[in-house]
Amino acid sequence: MEKNELGMTHKKKEFSEWYPELLIRSEFIDYSLVSGAIVFRPSAYFAWEIIKDYVDKEFKKIGIENVYFPLFIPESLLLKEAEHFEGFSPEVAWVTHAGKSELSERLAVRPTSETIMYYSYAKWIRSWRDLPLRYNQWNNVVRWEFKNPTPFIRTREFLWNEGHSVFASEQEARAERDQILGIYLKALRELTCLYGIVGKKTDYEKFAGAVESYSIELVMPDGWCVQGPDFHYDGQNFSKAFDIKFINKESKEEYAYQNTYAISTRVLGVMVATHSDDKGLVLPPKLAQKQVVIVPIPARSEDIDKKLQDYSEKVLNTLKEHGLRAFIDNRDNYTPGYKFNEWELKGVPFRLEIGKKELESNTVVIAIRDTSEKKGVSLDKLIEAIDNEIEAMHNRLYENSKRMVQSFIHNIESYDELKKNIANGGIYHAPWCGSTDCEIKIKQETGAKITNIPLDQSDLHGRCIYCNKEARYMANFARSY
Ligand SMILES: [Zn+2]
Repeated sequence: MEKNELGMTHKKKEFSEWYPELLIRSEFIDYSLVSGAIVFRPSAYFAWEIIKDYVDKEFKKIGIENVYFPLFIPESLLLKEAEHFEGFSPEVAWVTHAGKSELSERLAVRPTSETIMYYSYAKWIRSWRDLPLRYNQWNNVVRWEFKNPTPFIRTREFLWNEGHSVFASEQEARAERDQILGIYLKALRELTCLYGIVGKKTDYEKFAGAVESYSIELVMPDGWCVQGPDFHYDGQNFSKAFDIKFINKESKEEYAYQNTYAISTRVLGVMVATHSDDKGLVLPPKLAQKQVVIVPIPARSEDIDKKLQDYSEKVLNTLKEHGLRAFIDNRDNYTPGYKFNEWELKGVPFRLEIGKKELESNTVVIAIRDTSEKKGVSLDKLIEAIDNEIEAMHNRLYENSKRMVQSFIHNIESYDELKKNIANGGIYHAPWCGSTDCEIKIKQETGAKITNIPLDQSDLHGRCIYCNKEARYMANFARSY
């Protein structure tokens, strides 16, 4: 096989061709027979497991418990909260038959689990002593979207956590927001090396059934936004629809206060799109299933090659004992150059090259995936060097992500600036009066929606770019996947 058959044919600047080619050629995912439903191959699923395990551990530390609810939701239950149902009904996939017999009631394949969970919550919650109730489930959901599917970003089935908390007071419920968004932000920064913009959704864009929604907005390298992890304060909307009542400390019956929150496999798409390059995948070192590949460079002498093999094994054991995910590429039917290209394409963060020279001097050469730098290091300093390189690469990727996102943010004062530039992507930070009318008109005329209203409003000034009334918010307008 020739090198160019294995490698990428599109450059990152040809983003819409490059992104799917990257995911397929690097063997991160594969397509399935169902349009919009992708296969997570081992390195993608491994990365998701690391995110999931981290978030799960942090949830448990603050008292959130895991549960599992059924995949199927009876239609009558889904209809209970009208606004919520309106929001999801066009995308619901229905089970209508069992074998050849028609079911007496259609069953929805869960698009999200509010309804089925709150049916049980209403039975379980009786008194203030039962609260707070903070349950989470890790599962898959189905939303039969008709827009163009994009792997991870817009797929008909995805994996996520759905947290559903119940509190006795509005104040307690609202206090959960910073806890949860803090965990998500830390997962994005510490694992995926992604920078996001935290803000509040507008009433028009908020989650169906929520009082207020908050999101961490992420940005793809083409300047289009992707909604990342989110948190919704639902107030008493669902507790009233599902009759989740409790006897409070004053012996009075009261409706409970609720929140919902989620992080999904979408973040994997933004992660690989952000960090990868013309050569292929670049994976953040803490999420890479394979962190270090050792490539022995044969010397065409049986004796030396045998010693190279032993030396490589020794290096491998040193790395493994330190907990690093390392392996030797011993395949004898490929050249070292071919192997270099393959592991670069697949995003292994570090490659150790070991030839005759390294063998004789007790050293290795470390090649670093994202910078293409090569460094010689002695074997006794190897662990220290790799640890430092992991930290350095991690910080580099995060800083690059932050720089990229910030470079897409443009402070504008006029609607003309938005109309003129929106086709190039980007986030337009602009004064807005707060009216849904202006928001909808801007969306219809430019395709840009308000991704969110950043929590930090210290720069509030000026007049609405659409109607020229005094601004109430500084909002971020962008095209969004
Ligand atoms: Zn306005």
